[in-house]
Amino acid sequence: MDSEQLREYGHQMVDFVADYYKTIENFPVLSQVQPGYLRELLPDSAPVHPEPLQDVLDDVKSKIFQGVTHWQSPGYYAYFPSNSSIAGFLGEMLSAGVNIVGFSWISCPAATELEVIVLDWLAKLLQLPHVFLSTGKGGGVIQGTASEAVLVALVAARDRMLKKVGKDSMGKLVVYSADQTHASMQKACQIAGIYPENIRILKTESSSEYALSPQVLSAAISQDVASGLIPLLLCATIGTTSSTAVDPLLALGKIAKSNGIWFHIDGAYAGSACICPEFRQYLDGVEEADSFCMNAHKWLLTNFDCSALWVRDRSALIESLSTYPEYLRNKASEANTVVDYKDWQIPLGRRFRSLKLWMVMRLYGQEGLQSYIRNHISLAKRFEELVLQDSRFEVITPRKFALLCFRLLPPANDETQCDKLNRELLEAVNSSGKMFISHTVLSGKYVLRLAVGAPLTEERHIDIAWQVLQEKATTLLKAYKN
Ligand code: PLP
Repeated sequence: MDSEQLREYGHQMVDFVADYYKTIENFPVLSQVQPGYLRELLPDSAPVHPEPLQDVLDDVKSKIFQGVTHWQSPGYYAYFPSNSSIAGFLGEMLSAGVNIVGFSWISCPAATELEVIVLDWLAKLLQLPHVFLSTGKGGGVIQGTASEAVLVALVAARDRMLKKVGKDSMGKLVVYSADQTHASMQKACQIAGIYPENIRILKTESSSEYALSPQVLSAAISQDVASGLIPLLLCATIGTTSSTAVDPLLALGKIAKSNGIWFHIDGAYAGSACICPEFRQYLDGVEEADSFCMNAHKWLLTNFDCSALWVRDRSALIESLSTYPEYLRNKASEANTVVDYKDWQIPLGRRFRSLKLWMVMRLYGQEGLQSYIRNHISLAKRFEELVLQDSRFEVITPRKFALLCFRLLPPANDETQCDKLNRELLEAVNSSGKMFISHTVLSGKYVLRLAVGAPLTEERHIDIAWQVLQEKATTLLKAYKN
């Protein structure tokens, strides 16, 4: 590593990225390329001789960017956001600079200790019960994704239960979630060996805004117990992927507890909002949880990846996931006075992710983070008001956070045409290049989703998005009438 070359190239790269952000609105938000486009543009094999950085950057501009969907564009409203910030970017840069692999305390004490501290900070900001702090029986760990978080929670729950009931009972373990739960729960079950017939996906109703009903859960558990099965884990969500439904955590948690079920809460998206006192009520009931996860990389300004997982009892994770080969043995681990995060996750190696979360928390402060969330929510509210004023559109579920689910109504309210019309509207607005929204299906209806959450989105962008939607809707409706 030549420091002077790093300085020169590093400055060049920062300039390049800064220019990217400056001009980001000039790019179509959703990439408009066809599959395989890049093979046409790049050589078949790697260059034999070193090439200058400028040539590579030129290719990024002319070739790579064609195929980039600009998640940081102010016109990005699809899926959920995946935030970037200067603080997060700098944290990533620093992490790449020092490039440690912090699997155990000894492999990089600062990486472990900073992670423990920032997850305690974040837990306090979320007002999590003391038991989830490192000073309690639990603690926090940064996973790459919410998918990994639910998987390690499930594996810990499984092994704890099998220890109690015997390994032969694997085929009896039942996992509960809702039809609105993220598909990562399903995948975790597949990986953890839960029998497919023992995965309960409980039905939710539009009348309860797609939240999981405690009665439905109780009935399912009773039926399984009566059949000799063993309830293992319940996954509840605050802020479901389709419509940001919030499951009633307290009631569900009490049922889970009284049945000896591991209670996991997925707050991948909406967990961030709970740093604001006015939204913290959505987390009421977290005191019943065995594990809780939120993605700081979604809506808390921390560049991907940074999924925070807290557990009530760290020993459950460690008993399930620890290995201790000779080549990793060391005095600190043997004295049992340190955290070895390799035992809280699937891989051995781990990045210094806490640096970026620490930088985000320091450069924004609690107030800065709270006002960031509030700003998106007020922009979403503005969008909701605009939609409500146009009788050609319908809001599908009441907005809770910064996502609105809505659809365009067809002429004469002909329900048979509605899905097709909205598919066409989605296609039309996304191919305009000015914005990118996504869709879902709720109660069999094809629904448009607009999630405000890109750090650069301002009121004027919301107005542009609405204008594009209205214009495309007018054109489509004309065609439907003819
Ligand atoms: N849970 C919810 C509610 C989500 O919305 C998502 C992704 O959007 C996930 C889990 C999965 O997140 P990840 O990509 O971090 O695994």
